[in-house]
Amino acid sequence: MTRSDGSIGIYFHVPFCASKCPYCDFYSHCDPALLPAYADAVIREAHTLSGCRDFTDADVFDRRIESVYFGGGTPSLLSIAQIGGMLSAVSNRFSLAPDAEITLEVNPSLQDKQAFFDGAAAAGVNRVSIGLQSAVDTERRALGRRSGAEAAADCVKAAKNAGVTDVSLDLMIGIPHQTRQTLLESLDFALSLDITHLSAYILKTEPGTVFYKRRETLGLPDDDTLADYYLLMCEHLKNRGMRHYEISNFCFDGRVGRHNMRYWQNGAYLGFGPSAHSYYNGRRFFYADDLQAFLDGKPCTDEGAGGTAEEIMMLSLRTDAGLDLRDFARQFDLQLPDGFTKQLSRLQTGGLLAYCDGVIRLTDRGMLLSNAVIVSLQSALFNE
Ligand code: SF4
Repeated sequence: MTRSDGSIGIYFHVPFCASKCPYCDFYSHCDPALLPAYADAVIREAHTLSGCRDFTDADVFDRRIESVYFGGGTPSLLSIAQIGGMLSAVSNRFSLAPDAEITLEVNPSLQDKQAFFDGAAAAGVNRVSIGLQSAVDTERRALGRRSGAEAAADCVKAAKNAGVTDVSLDLMIGIPHQTRQTLLESLDFALSLDITHLSAYILKTEPGTVFYKRRETLGLPDDDTLADYYLLMCEHLKNRGMRHYEISNFCFDGRVGRHNMRYWQNGAYLGFGPSAHSYYNGRRFFYADDLQAFLDGKPCTDEGAGGTAEEIMMLSLRTDAGLDLRDFARQFDLQLPDGFTKQLSRLQTGGLLAYCDGVIRLTDRGMLLSNAVIVSLQSALFNE
């Protein structure tokens, strides 16, 4: 449940996009002129750890780096030289494991795909995550995506040709005017490609986005329809051999996303770049959502202690490994009150979780309602 092998992961947040998608509230800029300064600053940070000096120790450079993840934003806007420079900063300064997973998020509108993937693979990238979102062009356009679904298929082929071993696609459910039929079309299109992994996120209209302002007239599916789509997707993917190993993640042949798995296993990681978060030696800290502050060397802000019992429960229940109640009670010296046991039994009867050999796991329906289920368990355990 808690990862304690001393390894760490590294996350680079690349806060640049070609244009802003109307549903997205991630921190990103659309001015590529600042990319070179960003790449220099992030390499400097990885070398000096000056922004996170208050939170790290001398041991950090000896700890085994098991994963590196380029997320965004749109990391595929980086040049191959910039990707290589960031990876060299990691391998020169830290103890990068020879079999480390190195993931790059890719927008399929990328030009000259084969040259890009050849360069990225030569620099060390061995896993890519490609933003398909939907195989239906009208849905992609509604999301503000410029390229067609074939561009994502071409990326998968080019990545595989380049020798990238793990390929993941991102899909979205709850797109305006999406139907069961178009969802199945997207799933089957994704499954027809040579992929090892699929992430599927439910579209949320976040305050401050264009979609939020237009949410009443967009044609978004209601909650019942969304639930139907989520369960349909889980069943469809499992019937085709995928393992549903986390609320939004599916894989073939055990090819889980090792970097993201670290988050759910309460493992340590260092994040570099504006808005990047870290967890190290039990503390959480982050760089501000402010590119200029990052370029100016503004240090990270303390977010407090991580790895609390509430957090471990929440993270563990996101995955199919679930929560081992005996280990959990031992780790936090907890007595499980009657109210908690009764709540477990209510959730089990309602088909939201399974309880077997002391381990609780959410069902697909429980994953769909994970926030409410987890909060109800936390409150039965900690508020009695
Ligand atoms: S969804 Fe991705 S590509 Fe679109 S604005 Fe957000 S981070 Fe950028």
